[in-house]
Amino acid sequence: MIATMKVPFVDLKAQHNFIHVELWKEWHELFENASFVLGEKVEEFEKQFAHFIRVKHAVGVANGTDAITLALKAMGIGQEDEVITAVNSYIATAEAIIHAGAKPVFVDIDPNTYNINLSLLEKAITPRTQAIIPVHLYGQPADMDPILQLAKKHDLLVIEDAAQAHGAEYKGMKAGSIGHAAGFSFYPSKNLGACGDGGAVVTNDDNLALRLHKLRNHGGVERYQHDLIGYNSRLDALQAAALGIKLRYLNEWNQQRQEHAKLYNQLLLNLSGLITPITPEILGGITHIYHLYVIRLETGSRDKLQQYLYEQGIQTGIHYPKPLHLIPAFAYLGHREGDFPIAEKYSQQILSLPMYPELQPWQIEWVSEQIGNYMRQ
Ligand SMILES: *Cc1c(COP(=O)(O)O)cnc(C)c1O
Repeated sequence: MIATMKVPFVDLKAQHNFIHVELWKEWHELFENASFVLGEKVEEFEKQFAHFIRVKHAVGVANGTDAITLALKAMGIGQEDEVITAVNSYIATAEAIIHAGAKPVFVDIDPNTYNINLSLLEKAITPRTQAIIPVHLYGQPADMDPILQLAKKHDLLVIEDAAQAHGAEYKGMKAGSIGHAAGFSFYPSKNLGACGDGGAVVTNDDNLALRLHKLRNHGGVERYQHDLIGYNSRLDALQAAALGIKLRYLNEWNQQRQEHAKLYNQLLLNLSGLITPITPEILGGITHIYHLYVIRLETGSRDKLQQYLYEQGIQTGIHYPKPLHLIPAFAYLGHREGDFPIAEKYSQQILSLPMYPELQPWQIEWVSEQIGNYMRQ
């Protein structure tokens, strides 16, 4: 084991050093008031976040998984219903569908964008389908126009999984403001991350927002008034304070990530067998905020490259090592290897390189040089 990585995968300490004076001040006040769950600080952040995403409502919840679960519940989606999503995502997307009581129906990914494959989407729709959950994977918005068109044609709801896409844009709209609702995660390592767990549902629908306010808080907005069976899934004030401070820097941090991606793209350009992420310039109208910077190896062994980089003190990740249909917990769905060939193949080829705002150009140069050394050997 290497004790300290020369280039860690993420560096949350750097981010917190930057904001700790502001953070300590706000946290001190909250401790003085002993106001911890929901309350003014949470409402203030919800307003700021809704303004940032350019939607009417943001409802703070305990985490990003709950955000999707509660959005489905608030829409009345559950037993006997099917919900379509991309097969390459974090397990939480499918878990949320199952927790709502519905069945996840997977669709393979697009070979160029790695987001949900539009040419396969319509075939997955059945009379039981109620909703589509496109995932803005790695911080790159899914192609929402055709998804919305299909949804309209088949009378389906669209919930964006925007857990990796705080500030990403699609044709001038913020990711999360395009569908009927969206789920965000504020897990510490996300582009906008709390100092613990947190999440939010955003929507322009007043009725949906009211149902979400009830669902997250034992079914009611007033104490001891329970209109429906809800949950305890609330954002706490300490997290809301941290998120409010960080939100002020989010655009700047996302720009830094974009610059890092540009430098990686340049330095990795001429390595044969290595595919860099498709750029927003090619897709048009898309702002990718590089929650993750993911390369793909068409030749050679990804695992060996990862090991080689690790030995040079470079920490990398795989997002994700198994497509959802091959995760043991979902075996009951009855899928088998070969069902989603693109995602299966790519899961063996993808590698997420170090990416965080405070990353230094010399580190990117050094990582790229090491990758070059490995690829040319
Ligand atoms: C992080 C993440 C989630 C879940 O968020 P949590 O806050 O960890 O519950 C859901 N979907 C995607 C794509 C994610 O990356």
